[in-house]
Amino acid sequence: MDEYKIKRIEEGLTKIEFPEFDKISSDAPVFYNPHMELNRDLSILAIQVFQKQEKRDINICDLFGGSGIRGIRYKNEIDGVDNVFINDISEVANYYEQHNIELNNLENVEVHSHDASMFLRIKRGEFDVIDIDPFGTPSPFLDSAGYCARRKSLLCVTATDTSALCGTYKEPCIRKYNAKPYKSEYCHETGIRILAGFVALTLSKYGKYIDVKMSHSTEHYMRLYIYVNKGPKKTDQSLKNIGYISHCKNCLHRQTSLGLASPIEEICPVCGEKLIHAGPLWLGDIQDSDFIQKMIDETEHKKINTEKSALKLLNSCLNEAKAPATFYDVHKICKSLRISAPKLDLIFDEIKRQGFIAIKTHYNPLGIKSDATVEDIKNILLELCKEF
Ligand code: SAH
Repeated sequence: MDEYKIKRIEEGLTKIEFPEFDKISSDAPVFYNPHMELNRDLSILAIQVFQKQEKRDINICDLFGGSGIRGIRYKNEIDGVDNVFINDISEVANYYEQHNIELNNLENVEVHSHDASMFLRIKRGEFDVIDIDPFGTPSPFLDSAGYCARRKSLLCVTATDTSALCGTYKEPCIRKYNAKPYKSEYCHETGIRILAGFVALTLSKYGKYIDVKMSHSTEHYMRLYIYVNKGPKKTDQSLKNIGYISHCKNCLHRQTSLGLASPIEEICPVCGEKLIHAGPLWLGDIQDSDFIQKMIDETEHKKINTEKSALKLLNSCLNEAKAPATFYDVHKICKSLRISAPKLDLIFDEIKRQGFIAIKTHYNPLGIKSDATVEDIKNILLELCKEF
């Protein structure tokens, strides 16, 4: 490693060193991505909330350690953490993980060097939190996570293969998540729901079911915090949340249908065009307002460099917890109506004045989550246009 300069960074209360590399790339000797600081900060809040709710000391597995930054920050910055296990298949990563543990004077943090699935299986049932933050897709590791997760544990999952989940490329999504994506204006939400659905279906093999506590799509990645519990009856019940989203490209109508193999309407009930389906995916909750409120409260007690953006995102997700699946994109609808978009505030006010829900979404600054139909929204936009 002599040919590399060592770089030191600080996140939260933690110092990390790794060989400097000019690109953020999986070719780097040790991977560190500064754009993921928000992800790590939110993880600290979510795991702390989980730990307080469970009222017990917890063991955490950082399955893809890299520089060790996650596991080390978790031990250093979260209260009630017993042991942290950092795993990475790369020996160079292991070297820096150990170095960074010492740099922060931490005890009870172990470094392991296994394939991720192997490591989970060796340690089956020992972790209260499993953090899966790999390069690209988490899909190949979810079976082992499902087999090895304890009851009443927290599963944190990152996916950076958003082009597959969002449907830019259809086949990789079908291969990795056994689901058909669709690239609509709300494809990031569909992507999160496909990932959540895949986790639910994978875990169900082991009689385990999920409760999504918080989820977000930010820049190039998606992240989910999932409470895992065990029991065949509740698992059967939870799989009733699996279904499909059907979209009409012509009039922008969308509808959901529950059930893995229930019949799905083929024709748009609004305009008669053919509907396009995405799924199977999770139609249950993907935000839990109580959990998110506690994450917001927890920011008071933590040193988090990204506090401003973390709070903005958390408050948005808190509001979204009350909203139905999918959202409308004002510009897209206005384009289809060949009108210019009225002011966003006016649109929100008018939707609410007519008795519908209108909620902003973190997925898109021009997005509106609403129980109004696309026809209702179109009428409102046309009315507002006439007024000006
Ligand atoms: N979670 C880290 C980033 C991890 S990058 C962070 O927050 O900064 C992904 C890491 O996974 C790399 O260090 C790579 O060496 C490791 N890796 C790749 N395939 C693996 C596998 N099959 N099992 C375990 N580790 C693996």
